[in-house]
Amino acid sequence: MCGIIGYVGAKSANDILIAGLERLEYRGYDSAGIAVTHDNLISINKSEGRVHNLKTKKLDGTRGIGHTRWATHGSPSDRNAHPFTCNENKFVVVHNGIIENYLELRSGLIHAGISCTSDTDSEVIVHLISQAYNGNLKDAVCKVIKHLQGSYALCVMHKDTHELIGARNGSPLLIGLGNEENFLASDASAIIDHTKDVIYMNDFQVAEISKDYVKVFDFDGIEQQHEIKKIDWNLEQAQKGGYTHFMLKEIFEQPAVAQESLNVNFILAKDFSRIIIVACGTASYAGLVGKYVLEKVAKIPVVNEIASEFRYKECLISERDLVIAISQSGETADTLAAVRLAHQKGARTLGLINVVDSTIAREVDSVVYTRAGPEIGVASTKAFISQLITLYKLAFHFTDNEMNHSIVDKIAETLQLSDSIRKLAEQYYECQNFLYIGRNLSFPLALEGALKLKEISYIHAEAYPAGELKHGPIALVCTEMPTIAICPQDTVYEKTYSNIEEVKARKGRVITIATEGDERIKNVSNNVIYVPKVNNILYPFVIAVVLQLFAYHVADLRDCDVDKPRNLAKSVTVE
Ligand code: GLU
Repeated sequence: MCGIIGYVGAKSANDILIAGLERLEYRGYDSAGIAVTHDNLISINKSEGRVHNLKTKKLDGTRGIGHTRWATHGSPSDRNAHPFTCNENKFVVVHNGIIENYLELRSGLIHAGISCTSDTDSEVIVHLISQAYNGNLKDAVCKVIKHLQGSYALCVMHKDTHELIGARNGSPLLIGLGNEENFLASDASAIIDHTKDVIYMNDFQVAEISKDYVKVFDFDGIEQQHEIKKIDWNLEQAQKGGYTHFMLKEIFEQPAVAQESLNVNFILAKDFSRIIIVACGTASYAGLVGKYVLEKVAKIPVVNEIASEFRYKECLISERDLVIAISQSGETADTLAAVRLAHQKGARTLGLINVVDSTIAREVDSVVYTRAGPEIGVASTKAFISQLITLYKLAFHFTDNEMNHSIVDKIAETLQLSDSIRKLAEQYYECQNFLYIGRNLSFPLALEGALKLKEISYIHAEAYPAGELKHGPIALVCTEMPTIAICPQDTVYEKTYSNIEEVKARKGRVITIATEGDERIKNVSNNVIYVPKVNNILYPFVIAVVLQLFAYHVADLRDCDVDKPRNLAKSVTVE
């Protein structure tokens, strides 16, 4: 995870790096740091915690690199904060990823009399570059990366020269092309206010950038062609626009996002016998909704796989399978590995991806962009809705039908419940445990609702298919553990209703998400949140909005950092 940035030009590197890191902070916020060169000296400003901690000092210079960290090796602390410099303060490095063989590399360094000052896996890189340097920084980097195992995106700087070096293997890195200035960054949000022209680096590439030129090489140092792409979104889309949190803004963007996703056209052949959906986190719950819908509408058997499990188990797939990879960032390490495995087995791959030209988008056989726009809040909301829309469109596409657009208005109508959901949250926000139940299409929604609550409010929440309650979890039911029951008037209404009765009979408090006009549901509920009536198959869209708003308001009432929940980062580029 983590975000890295590099700048070389004529402006203050300090300001550009700090502003860029603030926009990359959603990727990790354990510590932040920058290094800037001036008069052949490297100055470093780094500290545990957020990027704003760096604002008390200003470093002079027009060339520098920066990092915001999501710790994998070594606790979040000042001493483990990047950038790392070598003993003579000549070289400086920031790293995103994991160096798997760092212990072996570190003992080699110790043998040579070089000791590391941090507990990270990253620091070895700078010492190795210092050892390998023979007058050309790019060549030293090419030499060192051949010894690194694991994943990395790097920015490297020498105190005396005029260039920056970037390298990529498994973690994202792009080059931004400006006017007499150039950039390196983990993603485009860091540099979008300076340029929209970018080169997405591929794995096994090294970049050399100066104020006046950009060159891309392979790991052997052979120069390669590169393609310049235009970013199709703007800075405003990556800012809060008057909302207190990105998450709330993104929840409220959902009608527009749904419309955008509905407008995407694609043509895909249906010459496969089975679909395997691979994804992680919220995207995997979108995939589970997708299973119900693809099976119901398109009558195609679907298997859902968690990408981090799929990649390490016996993989029984073949050329007759279509593997659908769902990822907001398009950089999720486990999902990317699952795509590569699917290719090895001869299966075809389709990516449902939000970030254009991201790694997974480039590696799959076909890609459908979900078009949610930049999602900054760490807890995914609008990307989830756009993934659902795309999966529904696929299901209808395979039956040569179109998806009805009326759902956009229904999502907008559901957003009007925000104030009443906050009032409800005021009654419940101090609870320590929640149970979420639902059947059929509402079961993956229960999973997603519980995940949202866990990740942003730190409340323990469990989700179950409502019919499973009596096989164990009903033992948890008591007055202190409220149940969120998802019970729209669909084909399983009566069944879920009975499960809610079972909870009530055991003195559980129940908040039910029900269809407007359903008076009967009040008999078994302490509180009811009514969603607009929609076609049975479309309830996930309106229910998702309610669950997001409930989690948001509970977390906000608990004073949690909604957009940057503890221990989490958005783009999970490590396994
Ligand atoms: N593994 C490095 C560390 O723990 C980098 C982690 C990251 O990508 O954020 O510092």
